[in-house]
Amino acid sequence: MLIKDIKLLDRDFKVHEHQNVLVEADRFKYIGSELPEEYAGEVIDGKDKLMMPGFYNTHCHLPMTMIRGRGEGLPLHDWLEQAMFPFENRMKPEDCYYGALLGIMELISSGCVSVSDMYFNIIDIATALHESGMKGNVCHGVTCMDPSKKIEDIKGYRDTLSLMDIVRDWSDDRVRVDAGLHAEYTSTEKLIEKMSGLAKQNGMIFHTHISETRKEHEECKSRRGGRTPVQYMESLGVFENPVMCAHCVWIEDEDKEILARHHATISHCISSNLKLGSGIATVYDFLKRGINTVVATDGASSNNNLNLMEEMHLVSLAAKGFFRDPTMLLPADVLRMATINGARAQGRTDCGVIEEGFRADFVIVDLDRPHLAPLHDPVSNLVHSAQSSDIWMTVVDGRILYKDGEFLTIDRERVIHEAKKRAERIAAELSEAGMK
Ligand SMILES: [Zn+2]
Repeated sequence: MLIKDIKLLDRDFKVHEHQNVLVEADRFKYIGSELPEEYAGEVIDGKDKLMMPGFYNTHCHLPMTMIRGRGEGLPLHDWLEQAMFPFENRMKPEDCYYGALLGIMELISSGCVSVSDMYFNIIDIATALHESGMKGNVCHGVTCMDPSKKIEDIKGYRDTLSLMDIVRDWSDDRVRVDAGLHAEYTSTEKLIEKMSGLAKQNGMIFHTHISETRKEHEECKSRRGGRTPVQYMESLGVFENPVMCAHCVWIEDEDKEILARHHATISHCISSNLKLGSGIATVYDFLKRGINTVVATDGASSNNNLNLMEEMHLVSLAAKGFFRDPTMLLPADVLRMATINGARAQGRTDCGVIEEGFRADFVIVDLDRPHLAPLHDPVSNLVHSAQSSDIWMTVVDGRILYKDGEFLTIDRERVIHEAKKRAERIAAELSEAGMK
């Protein structure tokens, strides 16, 4: 594929005009002002367009698209107990597959190239990612509250091992398996050590929810002799792995030191934290301490969309509002969090920037929009003015997944039809059982 005469964002988010980009197989082959004399492949005209790295959604629960909009206005605990868990208990593997595909469509059409997902029925979710052409780090958020239970008997643990075998046979490394632990408050010490050991043995990323709510954070301290979830997990060796810590709204100074020391990543889910009334994470402080900080949507039922452009806008505004300082988080800082920092956090060291030799993961933004004119500062326009509908094309490993409103790898009508039908079936089951 040859992209001709386009504006391009480099690693430092500086704009280069009139660039030609040659993609060969899954990588960028050439970037610069030259043009090949003859080219037989697909040519994309870059007029009024901007090319930038795709987004990395670093904490999601893809099939929760199926529960979008249910349980609105409930306090967090009731929301989980009354709206989420009963619905999830009725979700079959195929429901998760179609729910995941629905989420993947939403992600690729808003410029996302890779997702870190935590849920159940992970083989079906990984299959949806594999078929769609998108990248993803998939994990089961394993839970176990019974210290006498054998870990090998937990379905989520067994599914993790099975999926590790399955992806080994896939022809590329787009879909990877992480070691998932739902959270401290849904685990035993034995389970945390087992999942951490699994990650260590196989060089996997350990993905967990940490200190999302004040309740969770404070209850951990009273349960674990004053130790916070971060401190407790550190004592069990978790941070000897690369760790994706979702939320971190309530972490303390000592926790931040631990995360910085161990090069852990904080996945910042601003929409979800605001919507569920959990609070606002101190992102600027994380970055100042050198903690790799990334952007995520969380599941669609606490957001209620999977739109990384909206997240970037909110990340920027919330930091400025929280610290009452408009100099916090420049647009380039936010873009870095949503792109290369995310690729690093997923262990994808050859992704996240548009440079020769890197994987050809990128998006093209249509600049010919009223809300993007004039273009005094393209990076500011991307973070503060752009809409997800401005994404014109999304490419992963050199393959076009979405272009000009069309999904090239997913049957849009079929997936929306199946997802709606299945969500309605579960809703009917719930109402028959006398539940909301
Ligand atoms: Zn989550």
